[in-house]
Amino acid sequence: MPGVTRDGVEIRLEANVELAAEIEPALANGAVGLGLVRTEFLFLNRDDLPGEEEQYEFYAALVRGMGGRMVTLRTLDVGGDKLPEPLSGYAGSEPANPALGLRAIRLSLKERRLFDIQLAAMLRAASLGPTRILLPMISTAGEIRRAREALDQVGRRLRRRGFRLPTAMPPVGAMIEVPGAALAADALAQEADFFALGTNDLVQYTLAADRSDEQVAHLYNPLHPGVLRLIQLAVEAAERRGIPISICGEMAGEPRYAALLLGLGLRALSMAPRNIPVVKQRIRSLDMVAATRRANAIMDQSDPGRIAALLDDFNTAAAIC
Ligand code: PEP
Ligand code: MG
Repeated sequence: MPGVTRDGVEIRLEANVELAAEIEPALANGAVGLGLVRTEFLFLNRDDLPGEEEQYEFYAALVRGMGGRMVTLRTLDVGGDKLPEPLSGYAGSEPANPALGLRAIRLSLKERRLFDIQLAAMLRAASLGPTRILLPMISTAGEIRRAREALDQVGRRLRRRGFRLPTAMPPVGAMIEVPGAALAADALAQEADFFALGTNDLVQYTLAADRSDEQVAHLYNPLHPGVLRLIQLAVEAAERRGIPISICGEMAGEPRYAALLLGLGLRALSMAPRNIPVVKQRIRSLDMVAATRRANAIMDQSDPGRIAALLDDFNTAAAIC
C-alpha cells in the first residue's frame, strides 16, 4: 500500500541500510528508496582499507538491487571514538573531545586520497541507477563546496581512465546534524542539492548529551523545543530553496513522532526496514491538516513535558477514532 495520509498527501518511506543483505528486507517492507547507506560498515572490523573495486562492488550491488529506486550513499562517517584500526594513524594525537574532533566529512577532506577512492567508487556505481551522495557532519557551506570540487576532479580522472559516467553528476546533499548547520540552513541550501536530517546527532549536539551515555540518557530528548526548532529551521530553508529534505535519524522510525514530523513539513522519512510498516500504518491513519495544526500548537510550547503531552494526546485520539 502507498505511504499516503488520509487526505491524500504522499510520504516517501525509505530505508536506512548498512549491508547489501538488507536490500531484500527493505524492499519486502515497502521501501521506495534508500535514504541512508552508512558506508562505514565496510571499513570496520578489519586490518586493511577497502579499495576502489571493493567499494564499487558494494555500492553497485545496492544500486542494482534497488532496481531504479533512489540510493543515497553517505560518505565515510568515522573518526573520534569510532576510528577503524587501519585509519588510526589519521587521527593525530588522542583528541580531548572525540565527538567534536576529526570526524566524518572533516576526516574525508583532510585525507583526500581516502575520500577520492570512495568518491570514485560511488561515481562509478551512480552510472548504474539513481544515486545521491550524502556528506555527514557538515557544519559549513565551504565543506560542501570542497566536497563537490573533489567529486568533479574524481569524475574527470575517471573519464580519462575510460569510465562512462552519468552526464549529470549525482546530487550532493548535506546531513543536518550539527546545530550550527540547522541554524545556517539557508546558506547550506545554496550549496547542497538536498538535506538529510540526522536527528541522532542533532539531539546529542544540541542538548550536549552523548547519545551512547546512559548517565545522560534522560536528557537525550528529541521533543526538546530546541531540537524541534532546529528541525523546523532546516525544513523551512529547504522549502525556500526548493530542495528535498528527508529525515534519517531514529526519530523517523517511531510512529509516535510521525504526526509531528509531517506537521513540520517533512515528506520523506528514512528508517530501519523493519519500522517501515508500522510508520506507514500511522501515516495512513493521519490527517495532514490536523497534524499540521497540532504541530503548530506544539511549536508554541517551550516545555518538553507539555510538548510530549500534546503529541501523545493527538496520537491517542487518532487511535480511538
Ligand atoms: C544521525 O545522526 O541521525 C544519523 C542518521 O547518522 P548516524 O546515526 O549514522 O550518526
Ligand atoms: Mg549522524
